[in-house]
Amino acid sequence: MSKRTRVFRVDPKAPQPEAIAVAGRTIRAGGLVAFPTETVYGLGANAFDDAAVAKIFAAKGRPANDPLIVHIARIDQLPQVAKGIPAQALELSRRFWPGPLTLVLEKAERIPANLTAGLDTVALRMPNHAVALALLRSANTPIAAPSANQFSRPSPTSARHVIDDLDGLVDVLLDGGLTPIGVESTILSLVDDPPRVLRPGGIPIEALREALPDLHYEPAYLADDVSPAPAPGNMLRHYSPRARVILFAGADDAEVYAAMRAEIAGHKRVGLLASDADAVEFADLEIPIERLGADADAAARRLFAALRSLDQQGMDCILARAPAKTGLGLALWDRLLRAAAGSLVEVPAGHTD
Ligand code: AMP
Ligand code: MG
Repeated sequence: MSKRTRVFRVDPKAPQPEAIAVAGRTIRAGGLVAFPTETVYGLGANAFDDAAVAKIFAAKGRPANDPLIVHIARIDQLPQVAKGIPAQALELSRRFWPGPLTLVLEKAERIPANLTAGLDTVALRMPNHAVALALLRSANTPIAAPSANQFSRPSPTSARHVIDDLDGLVDVLLDGGLTPIGVESTILSLVDDPPRVLRPGGIPIEALREALPDLHYEPAYLADDVSPAPAPGNMLRHYSPRARVILFAGADDAEVYAAMRAEIAGHKRVGLLASDADAVEFADLEIPIERLGADADAAARRLFAALRSLDQQGMDCILARAPAKTGLGLALWDRLLRAAAGSLVEVPAGHTD
């Protein structure tokens, strides 16, 4: 592994060519580069170099059965990384790329087996971020990149988060500021019939349904010890802070607040993730509250940073309210449930009589 991480601050809209050139050469030479995408920071290596890909797994402590996503800069690179490409894949990529949609297709021979965890399919996307695209062009090769965090920790939405998890384990870090979406891509399998969402993310399912009316989505949450994992990457405990997370669901605000207050009373070091509206309800309590903003898009941008922040403040328990499962809310709900490792309290509506 590397001894020292070289950090370059870059303009997220127009990255400095010198920094991009160093990062591109690092990828070509088999090194690791962390870089911003529109979703979260990625930990990248040359997708055709199995030794470089192995370094990603080692740096993250990622289990070998959890495959990586390959990033490309142009749709015409698809045949380098996939084969038997259905017309649907081209239609979807024209409609949603560059953007937070990952397509699972049959893999090309050149993709090394460790990248796909031995599967004959590969996950692909074109990121919508000037730094990521400049790096891909400079490296002139597809780049394998999972999120740039230690395995099972919340994904990184700032260069600080990458340093906190991977300092000295990555050769180059391109610091392009905060990532604009904040949750990972939506993963769509086109090797399933009908097409199946494997992970909700930055492209809302509602938008995909317009293109794919028969789209299938069934949340899959596996316990840690299930092996081999039928659908990779669906480990229940994921995106987790050190603190225990408890998620509260329910439509009756008053009843949900009451249940959360009862839980808060039982803990010494407890923090809260709350929308601006919910935060007001708990303003009288002297506990840390991370405000997630007014809507699901704002909450997506802040979620992972908020989890990390409450960890740093030494909380041993974090309470959050389950969002509505629409738009980016579905991805938030998925990440929160995994952060909570399935710990969900369903609060029934109260009686008014
Ligand atoms: P990350 O970029 O850290 O969010 O991780 C990549 C995600 O893509 C993980 O959830 C993987 O399980 C998923 N993934 C990668 N390749 C495949 C594949 N061939 N089939 C299904 N899921 C995949
Ligand atoms: Mg990840």
